[in-house]
Amino acid sequence: MDQQQLELMWQYQQEDIKADRIANEIKRSPTRQKLEKSRDFIIEQQKKYKQIEEQVAVMADRKDAIRDAIARCEEQIAALTARFEQNPPEDEEAVSAMLAEAGKYRETIASYEQEMRRMVKDSADHDQKQRACRHEAAKVKVEFDQLKAVYDKEITEKKAALDAQRAVVAQKAAGIDPRLMEEYNVIKKHIMPPMARLVGNQCSGCNTAQPSSLLSKIKSGAEIVECETCGRMIIQ
Ligand SMILES: [Zn+2]
Repeated sequence: MDQQQLELMWQYQQEDIKADRIANEIKRSPTRQKLEKSRDFIIEQQKKYKQIEEQVAVMADRKDAIRDAIARCEEQIAALTARFEQNPPEDEEAVSAMLAEAGKYRETIASYEQEMRRMVKDSADHDQKQRACRHEAAKVKVEFDQLKAVYDKEITEKKAALDAQRAVVAQKAAGIDPRLMEEYNVIKKHIMPPMARLVGNQCSGCNTAQPSSLLSKIKSGAEIVECETCGRMIIQ
């Protein structure tokens, strides 16, 4: 390694920083964040809609079951009535037993009918909620589409800028020792920027004074010296 290599690496870093900045702008674009929020909202409404749909399906099954149960009760009452007509009870006790049985069926029917009415009301609520979900989602979808158009335009420009900057970065890589480049990329995974200048006897990345044993190594530029505190590659 020599000073010139480190200098080339430093120049590479300057362009690399610019490329990363553009990439970050793309990632943190307020338009993109709004888009993501709108998208999440629409998904949320779709989920709600689906949940209601499932409840409606459960209710439809329950309604069928109730209709069947009511029909069965009515059959029982009809059978009871037929029995009453064909074979009239002879004593008062038998009459009241039959009436009690009929009364029990009527009560059962009444409670089923009450449940039905409740479900009809719930159905109306569900319809209203579903309409609200659809309406809200549609409103946000309009916003989403508008934002998307803005974002697409914005992103096309930013991506072109990023591509151009990455091309500059690639040019700057020419002539750099692959070992040095690898080191740079390893450090970059932990800290950005991965290189720092020596200012006085301090690493300018973290402002820590470097031990004199390292200072001479940094000044000679003969080997890669990393700051013991922040891990950056230190260049004179
Ligand atoms: Zn440092």
